[in-house]
Amino acid sequence: MQIDRCFSSEAIRHFQGDFAYLQCRQPCHDELISNHEIVQKLHENLLPDLNIPADLIPRCDICSWPLVPWIRDDTFLEGKKWREEADNHRRFLRRHLIENEDRLLLLELGVGEMTPAIIKLPFWELAMKNENVTYVCINTEKGSAPLHLGNRGVYINEDIASVLTETCLLIRR
Ligand SMILES: [Zn+2]
Repeated sequence: MQIDRCFSSEAIRHFQGDFAYLQCRQPCHDELISNHEIVQKLHENLLPDLNIPADLIPRCDICSWPLVPWIRDDTFLEGKKWREEADNHRRFLRRHLIENEDRLLLLELGVGEMTPAIIKLPFWELAMKNENVTYVCINTEKGSAPLHLGNRGVYINEDIASVLTETCLLIRR
């Protein structure tokens, strides 16, 4: 949600989904449903044991299966929105890396090791294949940038907020 406040929708790729949306559990169709009003209603009707009444469980208008958060799992909907964002991402990379030969900073913030194929490995590959790309990882976990990236790979073993705050102060000087 914070990212959505800072960047245009064309600049964001929700590769793993977004808790702001629901999808049909099957999914039987290619629509995402904003969950803002649904969550408010569920919150207002919480039972004393913090469960929600069964009749308020959000359900698909078409197949009646439950609606679930649009977050990657085995039924994750890679539908129209997801494909459009993937296309935007490819266009961004092509425009800046190939057409304009711009320098690009890949800033990896607090990414874990559980699903490296989503962010970490694509970043390493982009940096390895493009001399104009620099990979910077900021993480409180001990680690290091891949050696094969040479000086285009930087690992900062610090708190993200501290590093970004210090960086902003340096930029303003
Ligand atoms: Zn459905």
